[in-house]
Amino acid sequence: MPVMHIPGHEHQRPREVSLAEIEDVLGNCHRCPLGDTRTNIVFGVGDPNARVMFIGEGPGRNEDLQGEPFVGAAGHKLDSLLSIAGLTRQQIYIANVVKCRPPSNRNPQPGEIEACSPFLREQIRSVWPDVLVCLGNFATQFVLRTDKGVTHLRGRLYQTGHFVVAPTFHPAACIYHSDWQPLLEQDLAMVGAWLREHPRDGAAQPGTTPAAPAAPEGPKEE
Ligand code: SF4
Repeated sequence: MPVMHIPGHEHQRPREVSLAEIEDVLGNCHRCPLGDTRTNIVFGVGDPNARVMFIGEGPGRNEDLQGEPFVGAAGHKLDSLLSIAGLTRQQIYIANVVKCRPPSNRNPQPGEIEACSPFLREQIRSVWPDVLVCLGNFATQFVLRTDKGVTHLRGRLYQTGHFVVAPTFHPAACIYHSDWQPLLEQDLAMVGAWLREHPRDGAAQPGTTPAAPAAPEGPKEE
């Protein structure tokens, strides 16, 4: 994936570029066909210094109308699940792989992901969280650079470069697959345990369980 140049930044080190600068470059984007059918671009929302960044697939109908990620039913479900990881909405940052709603909630197409994902990459580098929680296949496959599905990958943590990665189900999918919900809860509990064992300003506590050493098909370069 090409590195996106943000004006005024020669090297674009982690946390150097602000989210506002990235949003400025995004502008009224029409870099892919989703720009023609969206109502609003859904850039992302949350703490710009979050330890945990949640990455979804793309905006749904409510997100498209309101311009914010994870509103509506999936958002309510996410809110109710965050406490399992000891987190609140105010403590996390949320963004999607594509920032415009695919018509009729179809899957984003490869060309759309290729056009949009450099913005997500820059958001990740701007926030520079410790943990990436990947909700569903598209976020998982982008971050871990794999074509394996989340059903196969979830249930453990992966270390890729600076980041600990937790692949899990998308909350919206659990609305229709209620048997996935306990698995999503297990994954978020695992994230919560990792955060407790790795306080931001301190060394790992005794009994720490490290993340797995590598992503399944090589780490994403950051
Ligand atoms: S999905 Fe991304 S690349 Fe496509 S138009 Fe929207 S913001 Fe631009």
